[in-house]
Amino acid sequence: MLAKGLTLSEWLAAAYLQLQKAGIDNARQEADYLLGHLLQKNSAYFYAYPEVELQAKQLEQLEVWLKERITGKPLAWILGEWEFWGLTLQVSPATLIPRADTERLVELALDLTLKPKARVLDLGTGTGAIALAIKSERPDWQVDAVDFKLDAVSLARKNARQLQLDIRVWQSDWWQQIPAQTYDLILSNPPYIHPKDPHLSQGDLRFEPKTALVGGEDGLQAYRELLTPIQNRLVTGGYLLVEHGYDQAAAVAALFSLANLRDIKTYTDYLEQPRVTLGCKT
Ligand code: GLN
Repeated sequence: MLAKGLTLSEWLAAAYLQLQKAGIDNARQEADYLLGHLLQKNSAYFYAYPEVELQAKQLEQLEVWLKERITGKPLAWILGEWEFWGLTLQVSPATLIPRADTERLVELALDLTLKPKARVLDLGTGTGAIALAIKSERPDWQVDAVDFKLDAVSLARKNARQLQLDIRVWQSDWWQQIPAQTYDLILSNPPYIHPKDPHLSQGDLRFEPKTALVGGEDGLQAYRELLTPIQNRLVTGGYLLVEHGYDQAAAVAALFSLANLRDIKTYTDYLEQPRVTLGCKT
């Protein structure tokens, strides 16, 4: 597709056009990411040295990535890693790709005042994103994370090792394999998309595992699972904090209330949409 002997700036311009034509929103940034990944440099380098020529081997590799991206493969999977809360996480098709939205949940969790050495649990951890972000900021908290998928468990453990963050990760289908013990804070970004939501056939969501996206028949099933034993799982004064869809705040708050959580508060995300709900066991 692209001629040999292209300079960095020529490749970027051509790749940008192809990505844009394929309907990719951040075409310019994505072209930067692909080239940056190949050269292991950030975009400051391309702008400082636009005339550097790409070798045939490098062009071939870029061509493969560009084709994959144009056919919809998530950029994060092509790169094999994605940034969350300033941490570089390995990603895989086994789990959801960490979203910037979820950093809001992390931020709200860090606003809570918990006792020293608080026990924290991340349910449905995927890459380990939430648990690792929390541990990176609160090293004295004891952070546990579970996922029903073994591939996710190995991935989260790998991420923890690479980041040298001491969290415990194990396999559990929601509460099933979690020992009877109480937590000061329970966090989750569960699957919450309605099975008929048209977004499921768009963008990265087409490729990500449905089990990480779809929340049962009405999108809310995971919250019911989380909430059923919640009174036995939180210490008195302990918190449950979850992410949800922009149109689910009232339904999630009603479920929290049904489970006898109190001081229920909904928080907006960076786009002013109600996306995170907090409840407390009093
Ligand atoms: N926030 C994700 C999205 O809409 C979905 C995450 C989830 O189901 N937990 O792309």
